[in-house]
Amino acid sequence: MEKRYNSYTGYFKEKYGERLQKLVIDAGFTCPNRDGTVGTGGCSYCDNAAFHPGYSTSGKGILQQLDEGIAFHQVRYRRASHYLAYFQSYSNTYGPVERLREAYIEALSHPQVVGIVIGTRPDCIDEAKLDLLEELRDTPMPGKDEPFRTPVIQIEYGIESCYDSTLEHIGRGHGFECARRAVENTAARGFDVGAHFILGLPGETRQMLLEECPIINSLPLNSVKFHQLQLVKGTRMEKEAREHPERFLEWTLDEYLDLVVDILERLRPDLYIERVAGEVPPRFVESTRWGLIRNFQILHLLDERLESRDTRQGALLSPSIFV
Ligand code: SF4
Repeated sequence: MEKRYNSYTGYFKEKYGERLQKLVIDAGFTCPNRDGTVGTGGCSYCDNAAFHPGYSTSGKGILQQLDEGIAFHQVRYRRASHYLAYFQSYSNTYGPVERLREAYIEALSHPQVVGIVIGTRPDCIDEAKLDLLEELRDTPMPGKDEPFRTPVIQIEYGIESCYDSTLEHIGRGHGFECARRAVENTAARGFDVGAHFILGLPGETRQMLLEECPIINSLPLNSVKFHQLQLVKGTRMEKEAREHPERFLEWTLDEYLDLVVDILERLRPDLYIERVAGEVPPRFVESTRWGLIRNFQILHLLDERLESRDTRQGALLSPSIFV
């Protein structure tokens, strides 16, 4: 079936001629929204343990996590021979530049790792950290061949919402302009920038989610990830949802697929779509409303929905805005 959206799966193949597998690692960074610098309670939905696989825990060294990640993925995806270290847990540019340098270089020293993907908050980047990333990106790595002589470096920002009222309500500790600045400054250095958004945050309506699309289109992003809000047990947001269910949108899987299609129709066609839904292990949530459906199954249903609605990414945008 022809892909009716710009799938991120094809991105590395197009750019480097092969599939690159991301390996999630926890390098032991923390987050300014938890350690008291910006806040102490974290974002109201946050429980990092729910969002990373078992092989990545900060008690293990970076190289050990990478080895275990490769062993884990080789059983499932035999095709990948090169990997990206994905600094996912907490805020991975939050620390002194020398500490960041050490962690990134350690990951890049793994013989099968050809790059790093750094997940972070928009308020945890500055010129000195971008200088470091540029220096790493432009420095040939010992023992690596073309096209990976110099490392692949991508930065991924948790933006979550384009609305300041939402960001304030969920206790993010930064506003949307901060996210815009971070994305623009990072893209201006020539990096591929990704962003993460949550669909269904309290107080947001379906219309608001659709109205975010032109704002997302206006950011110099290379890729986006969308996750449906998942209420992780024990978080402040889970409590809020119990006390104020009226603040939360709930979708059946069918309704959610239509929402994603409506969003895709409004996104510029060159934006890579890396994810449209999230998976949290069932033990972290009270209920799995859509059953135990896996991401690849949701993507399959999305393909079918795009086909049955005979539409595609960017369908509602005028072609003239891309020239
Ligand atoms: S920025 Fe990330 S790690 Fe920090 S509190 Fe929010 S969700 Fe948790």
